[in-house]
Order: sequence, then C-alpha cells, then structure tokens
Amino acid sequence: MRKVLLVTGAGRGIGAATARLAAERGYDVCVNYLHNREAALAVVADIERGGGNAITVAADVSAEADVMRLYETIDRQLGRLSALVNNAGVLERQGRVEAIDAARLQRVFATNVIGSFLCAREAVRRMSNANGGGGGAIVNLSSVAARTGSPNEYVDYAASKGAIDSFTRGLAAEVAEQGIRVNAVRPGFIHTEMHASGGEPDRVERVKAFVPLKRGGRAEEVAQAVLWLLSDEASYTTGAFIDVAGGR
Ligand code: NDP
Repeated sequence: MRKVLLVTGAGRGIGAATARLAAERGYDVCVNYLHNREAALAVVADIERGGGNAITVAADVSAEADVMRLYETIDRQLGRLSALVNNAGVLERQGRVEAIDAARLQRVFATNVIGSFLCAREAVRRMSNANGGGGGAIVNLSSVAARTGSPNEYVDYAASKGAIDSFTRGLAAEVAEQGIRVNAVRPGFIHTEMHASGGEPDRVERVKAFVPLKRGGRAEEVAQAVLWLLSDEASYTTGAFIDVAGGR
C-alpha cells in the first residue's frame, strides 16, 4: 500500500523540498499552502513529471475548520494518512521584545504552535492503532532558534519553536504505544524566502560567518533529515531532534 504524507506549508522553501523528496521516495503527497497557489501547483507539477502523485489543498493550519477540511480532502482523495510534516511556519519583522504586541504574538503562535497541534491531532486520530489505524510518523519543524532565543531578531518566533520542542517530547511519549513516532528537525540558517518576512532577504549571507561550516543550508538538506525520520530506518527513534544547522 502506498504511503500518504501531508506536508503543511509545502508550496515553498523547506516544505516544497520535503514534498518533492517524499514523492521520489514513493509517498503520495498532499501539498498544503496558505495563499501562494502558483507555487503549490508548481510543486505538484514537478512531482507529476517525476511519475509521482500529489494534490494541493489551500488551508490555514491555524484555523480549526480549515484543518478539518484539509484532512477530509486527504481522506477522500489520497486515503489513509501515514505521515505528517508540520512545516508551515511564520516569523515577522526583526525587532526587540519591547516592540512586540499581542496581535503579533497571536499570529506567530497561531500558525507555528496551534497549527502544529491541530494538524498532529487529526493525524493521530487517523494513524493510531487504538482506532484501527496503521501507525505512522510525524516530524515537526522546530529551529535552532529554540536553543538560541533569537535575541534582537524575533524572540516570539524562537519561543514558538521552544513550544514545538516541548510538544514533540510530550506527544512522542503519549502516542508511542499507538504505533506513532514523533520527532523534530531543527534547521539553522536555510536559504528560503522566510527571511524576507523578517525584513532581511539576505540574512543568511550576513550570518553565515557564525556557522562552523561557513555557509547557509539548502532546503533539500533539511528535507533529507525529515525523510529519514519519517522512514522505517528511524524505527527506534522517537521524541528526538536532529539539528541541521552546519554545526551551530
Ligand atoms: P517559507 O517562508 O519559505 O515557506 C513557508 C510556507 O508555509 C509557505 O508555503 C506558506 O504558504 C506556508 N504557510 C505559512 N503560514 C501558513 C498557514 N497559516 N497555513 C498553511 N500554510 C502556511 O518558510 P521556510 O521553508 O523557510 O520554513 C519552513 C519551516 O522551517 C518553518 O516552520 C520555519 O519556522 C522552519 N525553519 C526555517 C528556517 C530557515 O532558515 N528558513 C530555520 C529554522 C526553522 P504560502 O506559500 O501560501 O504563503
């Protein structure tokens, strides 16, 4: 039976690279996105050119009704889910904590934390062998920011990734006996469009000198770690973290 994977925020960046690599490895893939339909369709077109199977679904992972519709679409069009990558994430303009208001905190935590919880909840309901599911694997995108705290840039974002680390440990222990493994990848400075949201598109070029490997990472390099954690090669790995950060 083919494996079915949902990657949230898969139209661009790390999510897109993960969706493409997963299709090469034989997954049927749901490419979720928020606004950028063209980018998501381009990922599906690449997958189809390679002989794979993928669908796009527009859904805001922070909105419960959207998440329910996203999963119902997967149930109907791809079948039983076996893997989830909680990748959708946002950050806002660089600044200090003094400048962060409640509305911004709500936006950042809504997508990064609440979105990951809601998507994992629906995945567990489907994967759990206690409900007749076939088990599965979840990978959460955390960040090195969870360790560093991102001072003077976005402590709110870093704190949301700290929450993802706690979530990963707790959920992994909670669902281990239901046949589900839960792990996280912590990328460092990766070349994607996310840094433009912080107001500095070339941020990786500025900060790469602080990385022992002296360069930013590629989305494809993060995807390799995600796919390993999803695979049976990682069958005894749960509640674990892989830093893909050039030694930082
Ligand atoms: P990008 O900004 O390149 O892409 C983000 C993707 O998430 C887009 O496809 C976007 O959709 C989607 N998205 C945003 N909000 C939502 C939402 N509410 N619901 C559904 N989809 C949403 O990000 P990256 O690839 O750089 O980051 C991916 C993950 O990796 C994030 O969790 C990020 O925090 C983490 N990470 C990234 C690092 C980096 O240096 N790039 C470092 C450490 C962690 P659309 O295309 O429609 O806008």
